Amino acid sequence: MREAQHLYINGKWTEPEDGTVQELTDPATGRPSGRIVLGGAADADRAVHAAREAFPAFSATSVAERTELLEAIGAEYARRAQDMAQAVTAELGSPLSLSRTLHVPAAQGQFHHAAQALGRMSLVERRGSTWVRREPVGVSALITPWNYPALQPAGKVASALAAGCTVVLKPAQLSPYSALLLAEILDTAGVPAGVFNLVLGRGSVIGDALNAHADVDMISFTGSGPVAVGVSDAAAPTAKRVVTELGGKSPQIVLPDADMDTAIETAVLYGLGNSGQTCGAASRTLVPRERLEEFLSALTARVDQLKVGDPWAKDTFMGPVVSADQWDTIQGYIRKGIDQGARLVTGGLGKPEDLPDSLNDGHFVRPTVFADVTNDMTIAREEIFGPVLSVITYDTVDEAVRIANDSPFGLCGYVTSADARQARAVAEQMRTGYVLINDADFDFNTSWGGYKQSGNGREWADFGIGEYLETKSIVGVTA
Ligand code: NAD
Repeated sequence: MREAQHLYINGKWTEPEDGTVQELTDPATGRPSGRIVLGGAADADRAVHAAREAFPAFSATSVAERTELLEAIGAEYARRAQDMAQAVTAELGSPLSLSRTLHVPAAQGQFHHAAQALGRMSLVERRGSTWVRREPVGVSALITPWNYPALQPAGKVASALAAGCTVVLKPAQLSPYSALLLAEILDTAGVPAGVFNLVLGRGSVIGDALNAHADVDMISFTGSGPVAVGVSDAAAPTAKRVVTELGGKSPQIVLPDADMDTAIETAVLYGLGNSGQTCGAASRTLVPRERLEEFLSALTARVDQLKVGDPWAKDTFMGPVVSADQWDTIQGYIRKGIDQGARLVTGGLGKPEDLPDSLNDGHFVRPTVFADVTNDMTIAREEIFGPVLSVITYDTVDEAVRIANDSPFGLCGYVTSADARQARAVAEQMRTGYVLINDADFDFNTSWGGYKQSGNGREWADFGIGEYLETKSIVGVTA
């Protein structure tokens, strides 16, 4: 059992003023995994106050000092990498192998990328006697979701600190273990008191207190669309900057000449990996009509071999989903897919059949593939956030691009083709903020963010740092 009785405010682990204890459940077994303390509005206020007090000194640090600090955090993160991987698996249920190879390195890398990017950025530009300066926006509230519990806070903290902002982090209630560990890492790495503050708590309590707080200059929010609307509304009276990173329904376009193995691997890794709980999940698969049955039989063979089960076991590809609520939501979508006439190719309702007794109460979902999906079906329009692929057939490449772009979201896209030129041409037509071609490695050292209802922000590297900067012009500089 993990125990956390304190919040991290002003460089110290402190008891909450109006705290409540919350028990957390292991997604794989349904049994308790730990107890944490949730703060209240007074704690959010204390954290904002600490960040406000720390801002003048931290915002005046030099680029070299902040670069050094970010590299020190990265080094300490590397030292705690195993602990972090275990924390992510304990809270999220992601296979330990995935926590080790994706969640943690992606998070750790954010500090190095931010340090490098900061060194490259020009924060003062001279235009004759006018100087254009880029200055930190101020106290930033960082609100994060549970599905990438290490990466999301790390990306925001790295960018904000690089810019010279001070922060209050409010992670998702379901995944606090990695955030607590992040606070330890930042503390050991020498982040000055008040620069980073951590308040665990409910969105409706801590979130609401931060959204409306007159001393919070900016909110960086990653989560769902409906909550983002409430955050933006609550922030409007204080005219603070609200940067949003929201959901997706990302298409993979399998072009007619695609290598089938590459197409299948993309669908499996990016559509089903992390139990489909990825904002940029490749959840709509667009396949040319003439290759549909070939694609489905290869995909089914691959999916049916995936090991679903104990996240701590070496060969597990897919662990549980995060919670019983999430499991219910996904079942609802699978039911809708069936009811609306999609063809269930593999997977379906209920839990995988071959789970050991010890995992019977875990939140395991069968990796599921639907074919004959039309783009107006609910399973093609809404974010399921589970391991469910919707295969849609097309006749021409223009039609594939049109279907891909016919979505309220625009986060991510995937193109699979043997023709590099055509792949790029199709990628350029996608109305999404990030596109992966074939088996390219995911690049965390570039911009991340969406078009349309996938949000208005950009994260990571210099693009992420830019969100935490104000631009100031000083005209008539003569000395
Ligand atoms: P959510 O919107 O329910 O919660 C996100 C965060 O907001 C949590 O910390 C929650 O406590 C907090 N919150 C809730 N009410 C609030 C309020 N009134 N004020 C302020 N904060 C409040 O989302 P979730 O279920 O944690 O995460 C899943 C969603 O996040 C999915 O839609 C997913 O696509 C999206 N997501 C997007 C990205 C991206 O980079 N675009 C990355 C990861 C997840």
